[in-house]
Amino acid sequence: MKVAIDGPAASGKSTTAKIIADELKFIYIDSGAMYRACTLKWLEKTAASKSDADEKILAGIINDLKIEFTDNGKTIFVNGKNLSNEIRSSNVSQNVSYVASFEVVRNALVEKQREFALGNNVIMDGRDIGTVVFPDAEVKIFLNASAETRAQRRMQDLKNLGEEPDFDLLVAEIKERDRLDSQRKIAPLTKAKDAIEISTDDKTLNEVTQAIIPEIKKFIAE
Ligand code: C5P
Repeated sequence: MKVAIDGPAASGKSTTAKIIADELKFIYIDSGAMYRACTLKWLEKTAASKSDADEKILAGIINDLKIEFTDNGKTIFVNGKNLSNEIRSSNVSQNVSYVASFEVVRNALVEKQREFALGNNVIMDGRDIGTVVFPDAEVKIFLNASAETRAQRRMQDLKNLGEEPDFDLLVAEIKERDRLDSQRKIAPLTKAKDAIEISTDDKTLNEVTQAIIPEIKKFIAE
């Protein structure tokens, strides 16, 4: 079966999905990590200078891109190298929405995401999982929280990576990423009609996971 968890940046999707995957023995796939991996490769080639050549550059990157997850989705290998920390840098976060707006990137990564799920019980998080990647997912969740709550969480993640983030800049960056992800032409961030929306502002991680697990168990028991 398939469980889709969508929502804006830093709404708690991946932390929640990992816990549920471990508890229910599902395979966890972090689709955002795949867009981040592609962005890291684009940054290596272009040093973040955007140009009309990007479509072609990204087609080349996608062609060579090999993504593997180990440790049930917690570690990502990109072309054979563990880049789990590098894909979380601020530079990647600031450019990923741009890279993820290209059709050539989305088509290839969506195909890969569907391949990862074939024949498995899978929980996948992202922006378009319930709407585009798996419109037939048995359980769809949309996690949300205020930009300030989300910036607070991202701040902690970045500190753990050794960065010294500025809170106001993080709020602005998150709002800009929401805007780009929600307004893009292809597969924008939007709640699927049949998704259950959960606001994580005033909930503990445990409360969020305990709200979702019974929804999944309804299908496992069948
Ligand atoms: O989930 P995370 O914040 O790591 O995702 C990084 C970025 O990747 C998002 O801001 C979005 O631009 C892109 N993304 C996407 N579709 C997905 C997952 C992520 O466009 N399914």
